[in-house]
Amino acid sequence: MAGREIDIACRCGKLTGRMSGISPATGCRVTCHCKDCRAFVTHVGAAGMLDRNGGVELFQTLPARLEITSGREHLRCLRLSPKGMMRWYAGCCGTPVGNTLASPGWYFLSLVVGTVPEGQAAALGPNRGTFFAKDAPEGASPPADHGKWGLLSGAFGRHFAAMLGLAPKGSPFFEGGRPVVEPEILSKEQRLAAEAV
Ligand SMILES: [Zn+2]
Ligand SMILES: [Zn+2]
Repeated sequence: MAGREIDIACRCGKLTGRMSGISPATGCRVTCHCKDCRAFVTHVGAAGMLDRNGGVELFQTLPARLEITSGREHLRCLRLSPKGMMRWYAGCCGTPVGNTLASPGWYFLSLVVGTVPEGQAAALGPNRGTFFAKDAPEGASPPADHGKWGLLSGAFGRHFAAMLGLAPKGSPFFEGGRPVVEPEILSKEQRLAAEAV
């Protein structure tokens, strides 16, 4: 099961990357309607990338599968609160790229599917779950939550496989245990402003 190589790019094309070993078996494609994901996408200026229900499509996989190939100087990191996830985006044009946990010891990446060129997204497989329907904006009608078991078992399975050396370790987002870019932490006011849109 070799998986495919696919590209990712920010909307202006300055930040690009390559994902390797990608297949429905090496990740899980889902949609999240939670307020945090929406606030992140909105704050960086990419509200247009939300789907009609205010959701964000993500592909959960190992961070080692992503290599930044150009424009690394445009990479930015945002945290919605001091203990929030690390949310990575391209500062050149405000394109959300993905989410990681704060510790590089967790081999976890939620890649924003909108960074994958349309012709290549089929490699990610079908969408297998949606979450946080209760947090969708008023008037939206997201599907009922489903796919949680597949999501969790996949994420833990990949993490432990990497820990045991059965899957690739590492991450383009951390170096020597530290994030490659100092995260910006949103103030409560900024956070509320991002939610209000
Ligand atoms: Zn860009
Ligand atoms: Zn979310």
